Parts: sequence; C-alpha cells; structure tokens
Amino acid sequence: MAPARIIHSPEEIARIRRAALITASVRDDLAALARPGMTTFELDRLAGELIARTGGTSAFKNYYGFPGNLCISLNDEVIHGIGRDDVVIKEQDIVSIDIGVKFDNAIGDTALTFSFVEQPDDVKRLLQGTREALMEGIAAARCGAFVHDISAAVEKCAKRHKLGIVREYVGHGCGIQLHEPPQVPNYTGSGRGARLEPGMVLCVEPMLTLGSESVKVDRSDKWTVRTRDGKWSAHYEHMILITDKEPEILTWQKTM
Ligand code: MG
Repeated sequence: MAPARIIHSPEEIARIRRAALITASVRDDLAALARPGMTTFELDRLAGELIARTGGTSAFKNYYGFPGNLCISLNDEVIHGIGRDDVVIKEQDIVSIDIGVKFDNAIGDTALTFSFVEQPDDVKRLLQGTREALMEGIAAARCGAFVHDISAAVEKCAKRHKLGIVREYVGHGCGIQLHEPPQVPNYTGSGRGARLEPGMVLCVEPMLTLGSESVKVDRSDKWTVRTRDGKWSAHYEHMILITDKEPEILTWQKTM
C-alpha cells in the first residue's frame, strides 16, 4: 500500500497559498517588532493582534488545548513554548516563533529562530546550520522523489554542521488541516515514505540542537519541549508546494 498523502485540488491550493502568505507576513512582522525586555506573553498578545488584523485566526490556539496564539521557544526550548508574563526576553536570547494561521478554511504554518545581538560562534553555527538544513531539505523536494530524500538532505546538512537532530517531532503535510499525512522526519531510517507528487503541501521543519537529540516535555505546562542537556536549539519551517518543476515555497519572506 502506498504511504498516505494528500494531493490538494487547484481550488484548495489557491486558498492554501493565501493562508501561507498571510502566515509568513505575521511571522515577519512579529520578528521585526520583538524586542528584549518584552515578556513572552506580550509577544503572544502581539501575535494575536497581528493575526486578527489579517482576518484570520490562530491555527494553534486550542489545538489539543494549546493555550497560546503561537509557540514561543527560547534558547534550550525547542518547540511548543507558551507565552508567559514572568518570562522576559533578554538581549542575548535566541527566540523561536512558530505561527499557524487559519484563513478561509486553509492553514499556513511557519517558524523562524532569530536573535537580537551578535551570537557566539556555536550559536551562529546552530542558526545557520538549521537554516541551511531547511533549504537543502526543500531543494530535495522534487516531483518523483520521496519524503526520504527530504529527510536525507536535512540529516546530511545537520551532520555537516555537527548539530543534533530532534527525532520525536517531525515535519508534516499541511493545508486544510494543520497536520496532514505524510510525516516528514528530519532523519532517515524509516523507509522511503510517500512519493512526492504535484499538489502535495509539506511543512519542512528541522529542529536542531548544539547537543544531543534528547528532549523532554515541561512537567508543569505539559507543552514546552526542551533539550535534556540544556544546550540551545533552533527551528525553521517553511510550507512548500510540490509542483512538476521546483518546489514552491509558500511561506517565503524577507527576514530569513
Ligand atoms: Mg509545523
């Protein structure tokens, strides 16, 4: 049996393209407005305002009970962090924002890690290596290839930069639902996965670390995923459309 995957209709793709573009604009505006000294709750509230201004709604809020408008993860936090009024963003922090917007019954999903000041060399390697892993994964997402080819490209890049690959969380199909088949792992070893065909929409999202791949979920909020060794982590995510030529990046923007 062929691995499950969803081929979207041209009408759906038109709506998904719009939702993705809106989501990318919220991501970029939020990254531009974020400042040290803000609490992560203030950043969440700002994201809520930016999303409301688009006419869309947060695709994450209330998803399995998630309380925030977006995920905000600092430093050793990998993903799924929740804005808090007792966490102040510091100048030397790295900030991952993961944003999902629902608009006209379609969904955009994209993430970015940014910083405010010049970072030490190892953090620079983390940010650049994770960005490169995303772009190399996307470059492998050609019609006729397999999900495995995306995973292999991300993994190879992560190894080249000596970065740990978080394995518990993976990329995914997206478009009408936030999470659709197939899964898009950032590592190889689980078969070649679905064959890539025009009309598939995938979120490629490497989550890489400066240490080991091992992560844990915060016991008190039951959402925030942190590295076990406390080493810092980065997360970049684009939504792409498989076409009969090059993959099209639906969440392309100015800040990455
Ligand atoms: Mg995602």
